[in-house]
Amino acid sequence: MGKYIINLEEGNHNWHKVNMITITKNKQMYDKYKCLKCGITGKRHGLSDSIVIDGNPNKDKVNNCIEETGINYTNIKITNCKAIGKAFSNLLPDSIHLIIPPPIEYKDKYKNDYSGVWVMGVGEPVRVLKEEFIPVRGMIRRTVLLYK
Ligand SMILES: [Zn+2]
Repeated sequence: MGKYIINLEEGNHNWHKVNMITITKNKQMYDKYKCLKCGITGKRHGLSDSIVIDGNPNKDKVNNCIEETGINYTNIKITNCKAIGKAFSNLLPDSIHLIIPPPIEYKDKYKNDYSGVWVMGVGEPVRVLKEEFIPVRGMIRRTVLLYK
């Protein structure tokens, strides 16, 4: 079982260093890296321009980053949004909303995943929790913007 090694520039990953201070272990110095898009992790030894991928992930995933959202639908239909505030005032029952990418500052912590998705609220993106909508599959490329 060989280790995958990938050049930092290859595979379309979005690598971020995880540790603050370089790790020294077994006479090796390395930094831990994680791809913010697909979540795979690896080690970069010294100032090497490549990353040794941790574990044994699917080779296709290493060679070509696929953002891991865990969702296979494009839109949601609101059932009962409990969030309060102007930004949520367009999330009325039965309104349909296009899922949008998370704001950059939340893309690591609150991404589009099984627990919730981002849609455009009034004036700003908002995240809707899984119990507040049902998935709408297909390609309905429209957002419903209703202002009170
Ligand atoms: Zn990736």
